[in-house]
Amino acid sequence: MSWPWISHSVLLRECLLTGYIVAKSPLRVGVGREAPLGSPVDLAVARVRLNGRSVPYIPGSSLKGVFRSVAIQLARAKGLRVCSGLSRGTCMDAEYAAGETLLEHIESLLREGLTSEALRDFSERACLLCKIFGAPSFSGHVSFSDAYPVNESGEVLEVLTGVRAGIAIDRRTGAAYPGALYHVEYVEPGSRFRFSIISTNLPNYAIGLLAKVLRMVHQGWVRLGGFKTRGFGEVSVEGLRFAARGVTVDVEGLRLLKLDGFDEDVDLGGLASESEGWLRCEGDKAWECLARFEEVWERAKLAQG
Ligand SMILES: [Zn+2]
Repeated sequence: MSWPWISHSVLLRECLLTGYIVAKSPLRVGVGREAPLGSPVDLAVARVRLNGRSVPYIPGSSLKGVFRSVAIQLARAKGLRVCSGLSRGTCMDAEYAAGETLLEHIESLLREGLTSEALRDFSERACLLCKIFGAPSFSGHVSFSDAYPVNESGEVLEVLTGVRAGIAIDRRTGAAYPGALYHVEYVEPGSRFRFSIISTNLPNYAIGLLAKVLRMVHQGWVRLGGFKTRGFGEVSVEGLRFAARGVTVDVEGLRLLKLDGFDEDVDLGGLASESEGWLRCEGDKAWECLARFEEVWERAKLAQG
């Protein structure tokens, strides 16, 4: 098996997915350490300063986490062996040889300047998701920007927030903690966050995997943020745009990545058109484009690779 796209040294193609994540239910995406129980708002939404105002946003790292965890389920459903992606649970943490992890092996090759050997051994041992999303010492081929409440001209959009009270329950006894009232901040339905997902060198089936996750988010199968069991986190995707460029992209669509063995051409004739060096489409047509990549993902017999 060959993975011609693993290296970052040649830019074969670049794909851009942009649009708005729109809250359909209350949405709470927090960040880092939470405030201690008992403060006025114990669980605040993540905020960023934009144009002098502090506004809620969705960190790119949080979107990436959601995409990877759904991709794990989809890949496993296809019979593909993939790692958990959690810290100390990636393919890099697995044993390469007696007493040596793959990460230690790769790092020792890199110290000796053996870059192509390091890439070869990573390609052979790491799972598809470590290749797409990255692993320690290997930057992946997709990046998720922070999603800010801004329009296309960069103007900040209004985001209404609310606070809901809850009672902290001891998981062991099922009883409420004494004085265990806490407050969860959330953004109100209708809030819009502009996102962008940029991938480089991904074969068409891997673009299809990302597309499938995005569609599941859009259709409400996948929720974002916390308190999902209480109905939080349902969103849709609006104003979707797809754009691609590179040596494997032409007016008819995206060529398969040669040598990969699993990839197929994706024909976008009649859906996408070229402007300013990018093959682009938007709205319903962008979803139709993504459906063609999703079909390649569905057909790819990766588990036999
Ligand atoms: Zn892995």
